[in-house]
Amino acid sequence: MTAVSAREVKELLRRHGVIAKKGYGQNFLVDARVLDGIVRAVAPDARTVVLEVGPGLGALTAALAERAKRVVAIEKDESLRPVLDEVLAPHGNAEVVYEDCLKVDLRALLAPRLDEGDRLVFAANLPYYVTTPILFQVLESDVPVSRAVVMVQREVADRMVARPGGKDYGVLSIGVQYRGEVRRLFNVPPSAFLPQPGVESAVVEIDCDKRPAVRAADEAALFRVVRAAFGTRRKTLENALAAGLGMPKEMVRQKVVAAGIDPGARAEQLSLADFVRLADGMGK
Ligand code: SAM
Repeated sequence: MTAVSAREVKELLRRHGVIAKKGYGQNFLVDARVLDGIVRAVAPDARTVVLEVGPGLGALTAALAERAKRVVAIEKDESLRPVLDEVLAPHGNAEVVYEDCLKVDLRALLAPRLDEGDRLVFAANLPYYVTTPILFQVLESDVPVSRAVVMVQREVADRMVARPGGKDYGVLSIGVQYRGEVRRLFNVPPSAFLPQPGVESAVVEIDCDKRPAVRAADEAALFRVVRAAFGTRRKTLENALAAGLGMPKEMVRQKVVAAGIDPGARAEQLSLADFVRLADGMGK
């Protein structure tokens, strides 16, 4: 049976002798409205294949499997197997792979599970200690994700949706906004989880079908430039790039000016399009 309320989750854990592992970022959702909000954002239908990371006790997995064609979940904690076997028993279209998501070849995993015309959605209540590595593992892999719906720490959500000019705008904002249209859907209080985390959370959607038109000639080079530019926020763009990329300042200045950017500007003032122009020019 799916456990959604705090009482049901406690009972499920007790019956299986399972204790939430802090080291695995285990905070289980115990708020049906939040669960429902995530399912609505994923909008599963008969041609939707969901990739879920960290199914935990399977509450979200089961809710998604009700309406999706298939759910493929990756869970690092093998001791949750008896719980997931029980909770997912009525859902023959839900499958759990017990692996560390960061070590899985997602393309190889999904290839035999994805048919022509399927819509792939990534959904996760992410373990906060590895949020960004997991997010980028999925977004940077060449699996055709059309949408990602992820629960993250509220500060991480602030950075994901930040626009140029603010203190939250940085490498993460550009990393996700390069790959899709990013929206915060709703904030989630600690009371929605068991055990309660010490931080607020938020659910964010990345619509990869609405990717911005700008494309870097070389994505790795783009992110080298972005990381260098934000490496030292107090420095001007030309100083930060010269230090971060190990290039002579005069050469950096020429490239920045050629990209139509003020070398005295700060990284947080540059738009995604500015960074793409700059990185493309750097490679010439
Ligand atoms: N989805 C469940 C929910 O909403 O109640 C559990 C979410 S809990 C915040 C995060 C889950 O991710 C845990 O089940 C944890 O064991 C799992 N996890 C942590 N690190 C992982 C990794 N590297 N790969 C796969 N799963 C991981």
